[in-house]
Amino acid sequence: ESQLNPNYSFDNFIEGESNRLARSAGLAVSNKPGGTSFNPLLIYGGVGLGKTHLAQAIGVRIKDKYPERTVLYISAEKFTQQFIDSIKGNTRNDFIHFYQMIDVLIVDDVQFLSGKAGTQDVFFHIFNHLHQNGKQVILTSDKAPVDMQDIEQRLLSRFKWGLSAELVSPEFETRVSILKNKMFRDGVDIPDEIVEYIAKNIKTNVRELEGVLISLIAQASFNHKEFTLQLTKQIVDKFVKNTKKEVSIDYIQKVISKYFEMDVTTLQSKTRKRHIVQARQLAMYFSKRMTKASLASIGSQIGSRDHATVLHACKTVDNLLETDKQFKKYVEEITKKLTF
Ligand code: ADP
Ligand code: MG
Repeated sequence: ESQLNPNYSFDNFIEGESNRLARSAGLAVSNKPGGTSFNPLLIYGGVGLGKTHLAQAIGVRIKDKYPERTVLYISAEKFTQQFIDSIKGNTRNDFIHFYQMIDVLIVDDVQFLSGKAGTQDVFFHIFNHLHQNGKQVILTSDKAPVDMQDIEQRLLSRFKWGLSAELVSPEFETRVSILKNKMFRDGVDIPDEIVEYIAKNIKTNVRELEGVLISLIAQASFNHKEFTLQLTKQIVDKFVKNTKKEVSIDYIQKVISKYFEMDVTTLQSKTRKRHIVQARQLAMYFSKRMTKASLASIGSQIGSRDHATVLHACKTVDNLLETDKQFKKYVEEITKKLTF
């Protein structure tokens, strides 16, 4: 199972100033996997800017040109899970061996390895083996290597060996082309005025751009297939509002207290009862992740703790995420509650 998705192709990836370097490096790598100085090729940038699409497109194109090579796409999260399972099942060597046999390894969202020392260690060894044997590694991340946190120095230095190429928000013309390309593929025709309205108002995230278009097509088909500017404005407004909604530390504490069936005052109290400590630590962790507040400010709003306590809480949660499946489920469920 290569986990490649043929829908993510270079043909469907619209070129623009915002992705020119990353795209052409990706093409170079797919022409000569392992044979360029772009090894690893690291594609980084914010949410919904095409990292997964481009990384997949590289894999799909390599598989097309070199069918005999093994290409594997995997998210860093899934890689971590497999590694943990291999430890539990006493199959760590098989796990390593499997990855060392691959010709082209694509690991998506490597920022997920932050703070996970064991997984970083095993990835370091796999990376070295592949690199020494002229195999191609492609990575994506939400940040440039210099800005990555809690990744071991030796691994960071490997990340910097090849080329780091950034994806930024596409400019207006590219946004219009992306919309038109998608319309063409879906076989719908929408007036220019409306396409341009969407492209003018949704600026930072290609996934949202597509989201608005999908909503519009769906809603217009209820309303007898009329693409009106009025309907478009309603949909765009809703998208813009949703993304601006920043969660507050108060809101995070409320959601987590409710989830664990306790009061906010209990969550903030000094008690050391395990489940309450865990709820408190989760509130700190989500506040760090989802707000711009400093550690000190988070601590003071969650039961007057200091910044070191918050930092410790975040590390504890990261560790538990790596080792405790039940805990990981809590975090996923809370994430859903906080984001929808
Ligand atoms: P990321 O992994 O950076 O969060 P994705 O690769 O999932 O982003 O892209 C989000 C959506 O936007 C996908 O549906 C993808 O196909 C689309 N997309 C992103 N960039 C482009 C582009 N340049 N051309 C066409 N579609 C794009
Ligand atoms: Mg992605």
